[in-house]
Amino acid sequence: ANTKQVLGSDHVEGVELSDGTVIPCSMVVMAVGIRPASSLAKATGLAVNRGIVVDDQMRTDDPNIFALGECAEHRGTCYGLVAPLYEMGQVLAQTLAGEAASYQGSVTSTKLKVTGIDLFSAGDFGEGEDREEVVLRDASAGVYKRLVLKDDRIIGAVLYGETSDGPWFFDLLKRGVDTREMRETLIFGQAYQGGAPLDPMAAVAALPDEAEICGCNGVCKGKITGAITSKGLTGLDGVRAHTKASASCGSCTHLVEQLLHLTLGDSYNPAAVLPMCTCTEYGHDDVRRLIIAKGLKSIPQVMQELEWKTSCGCAKCRPALNYYLVADWPGEYEDDGQSRFINERVHANIQKDGTYSVVPRMWGGMTNPRELRAIADVADKFAIPAVKVTGGQRIDLLGVKKEDLPAVWADLNAAGMVSGAAYAKGLRTVKTCVGSDWCRFGTQDSTGLGIRIEKFMWGAWTPAKLKLAVSGCPRNCAEAT
Ligand SMILES: Cc1cc2nc3c(=O)[nH]c(=O)nc-3n(C[C@H](O)[C@H](O)[C@H](O)COP(=O)(O)OP(=O)(O)OC[C@H]3O[C@@H](n4cnc5c(N)ncnc54)[C@H](O)[C@@H]3O)c2cc1C
Ligand code: SF4
Repeated sequence: ANTKQVLGSDHVEGVELSDGTVIPCSMVVMAVGIRPASSLAKATGLAVNRGIVVDDQMRTDDPNIFALGECAEHRGTCYGLVAPLYEMGQVLAQTLAGEAASYQGSVTSTKLKVTGIDLFSAGDFGEGEDREEVVLRDASAGVYKRLVLKDDRIIGAVLYGETSDGPWFFDLLKRGVDTREMRETLIFGQAYQGGAPLDPMAAVAALPDEAEICGCNGVCKGKITGAITSKGLTGLDGVRAHTKASASCGSCTHLVEQLLHLTLGDSYNPAAVLPMCTCTEYGHDDVRRLIIAKGLKSIPQVMQELEWKTSCGCAKCRPALNYYLVADWPGEYEDDGQSRFINERVHANIQKDGTYSVVPRMWGGMTNPRELRAIADVADKFAIPAVKVTGGQRIDLLGVKKEDLPAVWADLNAAGMVSGAAYAKGLRTVKTCVGSDWCRFGTQDSTGLGIRIEKFMWGAWTPAKLKLAVSGCPRNCAEAT
């Protein structure tokens, strides 16, 4: 029976089911799962159970309508992970292209991504008469492992506390391997097959090429090692870019690193530090750590203590050091103008002909006749050759001579306008749509929120340029996503 209500006033005392049964308890754990938003499909008369019912070609009961993804129900199952959805996508693409293809359902594994809780589960681990269980429980070590077997083959696995054997168990499960021969040591994992613990690296080496490494994107070992060799990849970023392995939830990162190790041998050095620039051997992380640890509060002090190779630094390290010091010692460290690029010093963007462009801030993209008149007056007074509306909902005055910049800014400031910081590693624009103030579809005050965000954040430095946008409804006219 379904749950009717949770009982208790100050604290939980029980749960009442719809048939009147009361289960006394002091804690309620809810596992609600997912339910597809299938109202549209239902309204059109398609067959819908928990999800939209599809056949092996992802066809609904209307032969001209297909469904795939979390909303689809295939052979009674709705999937809630991306790997099966990609498999469905492949079958649907082939079907639409006129090729014979059939989706047979997916066996999924999943790893919980919560810091400090290692949990892996795969397959079917419900109890049953025809099933056997192998359980290892070490409460003091916080380890629990349970394998469910049917006809000597693994059909389900739950690992808590120590999950490194997850991919191996999952591979045995998917291939339907007969485990009779290894039954005595099976629960201890791959490293113990053969009697003695293996080097963990050997365990990864022993995985077959078809073993799935990245569950999110369905990438197997062979594809990763193949890409490392054929594309000359040397690190995680390359593997992510070429195979998508480890590029989604990241829980297989350790395995991908082991594959890099195996394939590249000693030439794989994940700890290799990329120096900030040629002035130092230190990387960005080390410099940041040492600024705090050694209490370094000025650029010369950093350079002296960390034995910079150049006397004044360079165009790479000076802006970075200035930013780190501003961030680490707010209020104490005084921003060093000489460590900023010319654009930031003159509040304008240098152009290819040596002139500058000036972009006054327009909060949330809003302006008024007074501001527009002041901009027009400045354009006339300084013979500014081009005026352009920018993609960030502001007005750009182009072709300003460097010597005119102070006077241009004096006039704009007098009209109440400040720089739009179109050059800064900081907040640039907050674009907005007209939202509920004007739009028939607006569900919220997107302009007001955008202006509030912009006024709250402008003038703060960020590691990279920052542009934001706020839309008043899913039509997303402000292109917020
Ligand atoms: C918090 C969270 C964490 C997750 N972590 C993982 C993970 O680590 N690994 C993993 O494999 N999976 C994970 N998942 C599951 C995975 O994200 C989903 O299975 C997957 O995104 C589903 O893809 P989909 O395209 O089928 O549906 P969705 O991504 O839900 O896309 C459906 C789209 O349809 C739109 N829509 C709905 N109704 C209508 C309508 N009537 N008209 C027009 N559009 C409509 C929706 O707005 C939405 O954009 C996670 C899910 C959540 C919620
Ligand atoms: S996003 Fe577009 S449609 Fe939606 S409220 Fe904004 S302007 Fe209107």
